[in-house]
Amino acid sequence: MPDLAQRLADVDFRIGEAARAAGRDPGELTRIVVTKFHPASLVRELHALGVRDLGENRQQELSAKAEETSDLPDTRWHFIGQAQTNKARAIRRAAAVVHSVDRERLADALDAAAEPGDAVLDVLVQVNLTDDAGRGGVSPDGIEPLAERIAAAATLRLRGVMAVAPLDEAPVAAFERLAGYSDRVRAVVPEATWISAGMTGDFAEAIACGATHLRIGSAITGPRPPRA
Ligand SMILES: *Cc1c(COP(=O)(O)O)cnc(C)c1O
Repeated sequence: MPDLAQRLADVDFRIGEAARAAGRDPGELTRIVVTKFHPASLVRELHALGVRDLGENRQQELSAKAEETSDLPDTRWHFIGQAQTNKARAIRRAAAVVHSVDRERLADALDAAAEPGDAVLDVLVQVNLTDDAGRGGVSPDGIEPLAERIAAAATLRLRGVMAVAPLDEAPVAAFERLAGYSDRVRAVVPEATWISAGMTGDFAEAIACGATHLRIGSAITGPRPPRA
């Protein structure tokens, strides 16, 4: 079984290949390592290997791990999961970026959770690429109102769009739709150029379709242990 350093190097090699195949500069891509279910000790190992961008999809786990590793310099935590509005303050305290803003009430709660001296919070609009409203993400017809709401929030900065590919569709078809949604967000906020897409199974396709932020877990961390 290859070790963590080998798996990380292998994924970075494959990211570089996919970028070059798409005529893109690998240096414009941010690889976020998703550490969910894994202990804080894995975050330390990743940090020692040069990883600075880390992702979690549950607020409690994010808060605990960020706290346990707060001595590590230059880490940036990305929150990528479903968020409850009553957890907005905790998310803001731990995360530098929230990828999963999918409704106006959540944008409002994150904005209201700012405390004096807080940095502006980078956020992305999560778009639902499926017909199943339970999958998370705003439905495409709600993109502009949500983008406008975020743009009007003094303590939030809209950086782009995020999505998870549906299970029952070729990832390229889904990510091409996402690129169109990115265009629509940029019509509201021109500097919102980030596209957060691509996981272990589909990051090469996401890169081909313009992804700028890849959220990669198990290909790097190995299989996830069962949730405690
Ligand atoms: C877990 C998770 C990932 C990473 O998944 P892998 O398939 O392990 O790479 C990416 N994005 C979200 C939203 C996740 O919850």
